[in-house]
This record gives sequence, C-alpha cells and structure tokens, in this order.
Amino acid sequence: MSRSRRVLCCLSVMVIGFILLKATPKEVAISSVQADVLSEDGTRQWLKGNLHTHSLWSDGDDYLEMIALWYRDRDYDFLCFTDHNVLAQSKDRWVDIARKPTGKDALRKLKERFPEGWIDERVVDGRTEVRLKTFSEVTAKVGQPGKFLLIQGEEVTDRFGKYPVHLCAANVKELIPPMGGDSVAETIQKNVDALISQRERTGQSMMIHLNHPNFGYAVTAEDLMRIRGEKFFEVYNGHPGVNNSGNAEHASTERMWDIILTTRLAELQLPVMYGLATDDGHNYHSIPSRKSEPGRGWVMVLAEALDPESIIPALERGDFYSTSGVMLDKVTSSSEELSVDVKADPGVNYRIEFIGTVAGFDKTSKPVLDKAGKELLATRRYSKDIGKVLATHDGTSASYTFHGNEIYVRARITSSRKHANPSEIDDFEQAWVQPVVGPAAEPSGH
Ligand SMILES: [Zn+2]
Ligand SMILES: [Zn+2]
Repeated sequence: MSRSRRVLCCLSVMVIGFILLKATPKEVAISSVQADVLSEDGTRQWLKGNLHTHSLWSDGDDYLEMIALWYRDRDYDFLCFTDHNVLAQSKDRWVDIARKPTGKDALRKLKERFPEGWIDERVVDGRTEVRLKTFSEVTAKVGQPGKFLLIQGEEVTDRFGKYPVHLCAANVKELIPPMGGDSVAETIQKNVDALISQRERTGQSMMIHLNHPNFGYAVTAEDLMRIRGEKFFEVYNGHPGVNNSGNAEHASTERMWDIILTTRLAELQLPVMYGLATDDGHNYHSIPSRKSEPGRGWVMVLAEALDPESIIPALERGDFYSTSGVMLDKVTSSSEELSVDVKADPGVNYRIEFIGTVAGFDKTSKPVLDKAGKELLATRRYSKDIGKVLATHDGTSASYTFHGNEIYVRARITSSRKHANPSEIDDFEQAWVQPVVGPAAEPSGH
C-alpha cells in the first residue's frame, strides 16, 4: 500500500486545518485532513541502516565481524550483509590471507579486536588461512538485541549478455541463485519473483531491491518501470563506479526515478517505487579513498522495533528516507501537502526542493542515438515536464501544498556541506524523501 493510500486509513493521525479551529466537533470530523506523520513519537524511532555490504565471503576485503563493528561503532542500528551469490552459512569456508593485498592488514586488525579464542587460523602448504565466521556466529558475537541488528542477505548477481543485473535480497532464509532471463527486464522480474515465492513459502519478512541501475549502464528506466512486485531501487549507491549521475547518453538515477514514477502512476497503473541509498562497501582498510567504502549512503527507517519484521514492512510502506548525510526530524504527508523538517547542523544551509510531475505533462519520448544514428541501450529522453522542480525553499523546513493536478511529489534536500567521502567527486550531502502519490495519479497507482 502506498503512502497516499495510507493517509485514508485508520493508522493515520488527524491534522486539523487552522480555518477549522473554531468549528464545531462535527464540522471538524467532516472537514479534517488525515496526515501521515513520520517522526519519533514514543512508539516508533528512526533507525539507521545499510542494506548493501560485501565481505571476504565474496569480493569485499574484511571479515564480517569487523565490518559489523565498523557500523556498530558508528551508531548504525542495522546492517544487511549482501555478498555475491552466497549466504554466510558454511562452517568450512577458509580464505588464504594472501588472496588480497590487504589480507595481512585485515588479519592483524582482526587479532587486535578479537585477541583470544575467536579466530580459527591454519597453515596449508605454507599459506595462512582463516576460517570465515558464519552469519549466525557473527550475529551471536557482535549483534546486540534491541541495539544492533544484523540481517542475512545476498546480492543476487545476475547478467543478461554483457549487462550486469544485480539485486540485493534482505532477510532471506535460502540462497536465491541468479534466475537469468531473455532480457534485462525479464532477468530482474525473475529474480524478484524468486524472492516473492520464497517469502510466500516461508512466511518470513524479506525484500529485494534493484541495485545501481547505471553500473555498466545495464538497466534503463523502461526496464525498471514495468517490474511487478519490485518496490525499491538504489537512487544512490556509494560505490564510485556505478554512475549515479549518468553521462551524456545516460540519465542519472534520480532522473530515472522520476520517469519510472510518472509512467507507473500515470500510465502503467503500478504502484510507486521507492529510492534507497546504500553503501555497497567492499574496501575497509584505507578510508577515505576513492574505493567503495562504507558510510556514504544509508536509510533512516521509522519503525517500532529493531527487527526485520518491523523494519521491512516499514520500508515497504515508505516510512523512511534515504540519505548521504542530511538528517531529517519529520516528514508529513497528506492528500493536501508534503512537508519536511530538517535536523539541522549549525552553520550548514539547506535547500529543500519539491519535485514531481503534474497532469497534462508531455508524454513523448525519443531514443538516444549514437553518432551513426543507431539507437543506444539507454533510458529514452523525456520532456522536462517529468520530474519538474515544483517549489524550492532555502531553510530547514518547508511545505508543499498540492494544487490538485500532481501525479506525485517527492522532496530532495541538499546541504551546503560537501560529502566528506563522496561517491562522486564534489557530491554534497543530500536526503531523498519518498514520493507521495498525488490526486492526479491513476486510481490503481495508489
Ligand atoms: Zn552489484
Ligand atoms: Zn554490491
């Protein structure tokens, strides 16, 4: 269920317009507007988490327990491990520490942090090997009930021809092998379907999201907009090689998001897709550098408890925002407005932009051509009506009032402070508020 639909349901709270302050109780009940308020309220709290993480179980360069501690030491509430096509379940997985240039450094730091009785080390044919701890072992050692949650996940690492198609699955019980397909879109759909079928069969809360669409410029907005059952994609991925901003031929991930939202809500009669920010960390030994390091992008989820059964449904309801550094106090949405309150840092300025598409937009699009006039595999070019900046406010809180013709509205907040360890050089800290479906969306898009 999308956030705009939820504004009509009983979970919402009542917000009363100021012109009704002197109205009788009966008039208030008829004329009030229900709003969905995302802020800490004594029952729910903001939880900080990263949903995309690599370790020595695949191509990351550190041990699960050390990565978990990196996040725990920095006040994250939860972390999902997502190694490529593997779950950390085997108790007999040994790595040669010389496999990576940082291997000796990694083992030295592991020994410093866990000096006694934890590390399994052996020498085989003169090579030092260390046994990788399983997810269960690491959770028992480093997880802290109610304080720090580890989630078992996987990066389902598939491809169509030369195009990489990667999806992160969170809180899975069983490995999802790459499902393949006859197109990029079909490959995405089959992997999404595999997660949905595991979820239905096991009854466990789990989610899947499409990773870094511009990695290898593999996934277009047209591929993604048609996927059924896919609620999330990465609008921000911290890996420096994933082209969040696109290039001359390829749309940025944010531009793709607006195209996807507009088409799903105005034409395809599909629900919104939410934008995630993740780290996709692989490199943990020389921070900061220009490698794929932790701490660049994360989600803030408003949930009742620190467990997957609270966090995943909250994400699916859109009760979160994504960020590369800007923090928010409150997001309020209703059928009439979207408002944002920034948790401001002293000396930092903020620009709040409300972005959306309104009814009557120019629906035409054209393909991107190469110099020889041949069509490229790239998101098509759409009119500027799609994903327009509808209002801009410089300050720490702002509200957008719906005119009645909006298909959706979302908000982006940009800080005057540059990201300390950016994914792309000169990135500023930002936050992305999830889209609110507007009055002009097709009914089934709600
Ligand atoms: Zn990937
Ligand atoms: Zn990854």
